Amino acid sequence: MTTPDTNLIKPTGKSFAELGLIAPLLARLAEMQYQQPTPIQAQAIPSVLAGRDLIGGANTGSGKTATFALPILQHIYQHKDGKPSTTTKAKGNYVNSLILVPTRELAKQVADSIRSYAAHLNGAVNTVAVFGGVSVNTQMLALRGGTDILVATPGRLLDLISSNAVKLSRVQTLVLDEADRMLSLGFIEELSALLALMPKQKQTLLFSATFPEQVKALTQTLLSNPVEIQVQSSEASTLVQRVFTVNKGEKTALLAHLIQQNQWRQILIFVNAKNNCEHLAKKLSKRGISAEVFHGDKGQSARSRVLDGFKSGEIEVLIATDIAARGLDIEKLPVVINFNLPRSPADYMHRIGRSGRAGEVGLAISLIEYEDYHHFKIIEKKNKIRLEREQVTGFEVDKDSEDAIIAASKPIAAPPGSGKKKRKNKSSINADIWLNITKDK
Ligand code: AMP
Repeated sequence: MTTPDTNLIKPTGKSFAELGLIAPLLARLAEMQYQQPTPIQAQAIPSVLAGRDLIGGANTGSGKTATFALPILQHIYQHKDGKPSTTTKAKGNYVNSLILVPTRELAKQVADSIRSYAAHLNGAVNTVAVFGGVSVNTQMLALRGGTDILVATPGRLLDLISSNAVKLSRVQTLVLDEADRMLSLGFIEELSALLALMPKQKQTLLFSATFPEQVKALTQTLLSNPVEIQVQSSEASTLVQRVFTVNKGEKTALLAHLIQQNQWRQILIFVNAKNNCEHLAKKLSKRGISAEVFHGDKGQSARSRVLDGFKSGEIEVLIATDIAARGLDIEKLPVVINFNLPRSPADYMHRIGRSGRAGEVGLAISLIEYEDYHHFKIIEKKNKIRLEREQVTGFEVDKDSEDAIIAASKPIAAPPGSGKKKRKNKSSINADIWLNITKDK
């Protein structure tokens, strides 16, 4: 079992027992070697147990799942007096608690965590995960007779509702995980359709690492007098971020060079489109590097197989689209590379958050060509970070681009007092020494 980001596991000085959790959950947490609650757990669990609505702002890897799962499990267990769910199934395909997540993998991961937290609850709580890409029939069967906790992606859930396999009219607790994504254009219509089917009176818990305008607007309409908890992660992170400039057309060569020179054994590479995954995999293969791909056009069994293989270390290089950027808990992932920059600054944080989890040293590298310079500056500004442009020996950018690099290195709005300082170097060359960070671990 892993622990979350070191930033977020600072001793909270609290125990799980103090938060008001019941004995069978405490026993399970002890077994899982969760020694103390993370900050979001310590601050949020008592309010969630008390039935309050909640807005939780916390990075991925902060222990969000247990924050909502433990109180939900406790409520259901107590409501049923600990009786097994086989004897307490109500008539009708109703759902007690609904957790909406943006990706299939996250649905599976969250449901697995909930089942694990429920190990000593005497089978009182049944948890079902539904998501697209797999047969709908097994999911229909699982939902028959009611579900205590349903973890779902919106599209498949709507399909199941239209076949009468499940009803949301008795939902008591709704969790929106990765809320910023759930409220983005791709999901908002489905989400609105689902919300219309749920009772107005319910407990709503909303978790998001970032709070763009849509999320803020929604919190006002969806939540009633919510407790707001923002977990800061301002202390030094174990994740090192770097950005390498490279000439157009030399990115793949640089990537191959970095992989080979640093002998990375587990590396996640993000690209912007499904066919770029295949394209890059082919180009790397010509350079002697075998890579697997992970994107939305792959069948669910292939997606699961690839992800399991990557997690176990069998697959060393994985090229993925942003479906891999959210919430996935890949233990000890040492390196993430942005081969293409993500479109949104928030996605940059989600992508790099796959590494440096669990207190491990992590490295996130972005490879940028001239045409990416401006976009990277925006990513920096929005995320309040500022990285030095570096070059790797043997991949120095053409002289003509040097001025552009210098311009790109200046922040869009310079922080107060920094205006007069001159940069010492145009851009640092010979980044190679640094890179061994992941090898020496
Ligand atoms: P999450 O943010 O829910 O994806 O959790 C990230 C990782 O932290 C998972 O591997 C959890 O098992 C682990 N975790 C969550 N809470 C704790 C805790 N209080 N102590 C140790 N590990 C935890």
